[in-house]
Amino acid sequence: MNSLTLLPSPEKNKPLQQPELTDIINLLEIPRKILITTHTNPDGDAIGSSLAMYGYLKKKGHAVSVMIPDPDPAFLDWMPFHSSILVFRDQKELCLAAIENAEVIFCLDYNGLGRLSNAEEPVRKAKATKIRIDHHRDPAPDFDHTLSMIETSSTCELVYDFIAGCGDADLIDTDISACIYAGIITDTGSFSYSCNYEKTYLITADLYRKGIDGEHIHRLVYDTYSEGRLRLLGYSISEKLVVLHEFHTAYIYLSEEDLDRFNYQVGDTEDVVNYALSVAGINLAALFSERDGVVRVSLRSKGNFSVNDIARKYFNGGGHINAAGANSYVSLEETVRIFVEMLPDYKEKLTSVY
Ligand code: 5GP
Ligand code: MN
Repeated sequence: MNSLTLLPSPEKNKPLQQPELTDIINLLEIPRKILITTHTNPDGDAIGSSLAMYGYLKKKGHAVSVMIPDPDPAFLDWMPFHSSILVFRDQKELCLAAIENAEVIFCLDYNGLGRLSNAEEPVRKAKATKIRIDHHRDPAPDFDHTLSMIETSSTCELVYDFIAGCGDADLIDTDISACIYAGIITDTGSFSYSCNYEKTYLITADLYRKGIDGEHIHRLVYDTYSEGRLRLLGYSISEKLVVLHEFHTAYIYLSEEDLDRFNYQVGDTEDVVNYALSVAGINLAALFSERDGVVRVSLRSKGNFSVNDIARKYFNGGGHINAAGANSYVSLEETVRIFVEMLPDYKEKLTSVY
């Protein structure tokens, strides 16, 4: 029988760094032109943290825009303030003006400007003060201020902390709470990983106190599959899953043709990789999906096996210990080959995961 794992020690629930926070509070003392940015292929935490921050900063009297590099999945459309989002890929001129005019740029849920895809260069050149709030490892030296913690559920949780740290917990209303909650549930697989922190639940309790309907949010995020998305999931598992018990590894590979067959829409492969990880004895899971000539690599692991290391070393990507991603610019077959060929080097680690 597996033994129970102890929770991390309470001191890991430390508050955000105070000196950085004081600098930021001083900067935001007068109304500013602010641009909120988040990473390419934005997920629930990226959009949730951006929109929660938007709601808060608007209440504080700032002029605020939100920019994402490329469109977010439709299952996030319901979020409060969603109509305020500008998409760099589709509204380039508006975005360039917002970048140029900004006095402050918030960089949420990413650790380097390289994660902005096509928007990287203009943001890099911007004169604005860049403030990163994030929970990823290995930050690049691209920011003026950083509020970062790895031992947390999500950037949304850090945004809650930030607002509370600014002395404005009372300004967190139901709409802002809904955005924060969506980020927490999507980054933790509805409280199943990256959530061994007491603080996550204290914050979540407060979001309920602020009036969110968690069951409704869950339905909006998870129960709005298109038929194509559900069938693609079934096909991925029944036809495209490879289980390598010897290496405690399972992977799914999807060609552009596979995705087209099921009328792929942005976000349709989200969570597919978790099914590969759900097999007993599997400690490493991967999803390879080919889109527009690029292969998206999504890696997941259990316990102390770091997929961040693998994403960085083999695919120039990154992320967290148990969830990481990358783009691969070689073919789908070649990408899978690189992955499978590195497995023998990790056999021992994959066998002794705790
Ligand atoms: P996903 O597999 O859901 O796309 O990504 C898992 C995690 O890895 C997320 O936290 C995401 O921010 C991070 N990630 C995904 N793709 C990349 C990438 O290309 N580079 C880096 N540095 N991180 C990534
Ligand atoms: Mn996140």
